[in-house]
Amino acid sequence: MKNSSKGKKEKATTTSSVLSCETCGENFESRNKLFMHIGESGHAMLKAR
Ligand SMILES: [Zn+2]
Repeated sequence: MKNSSKGKKEKATTTSSVLSCETCGENFESRNKLFMHIGESGHAMLKAR
């Protein structure tokens, strides 16, 4: 079978908010990438204000 369609059906995520770094304003398509960016650049989201 060359039909390599995924049997798994992904749920349509209803994420309405875009993940973005509050420090530099960069957008990320997944939380993983956002966390990676935060870890690499040290952009921690401060909720002081
Ligand atoms: Zn950032």
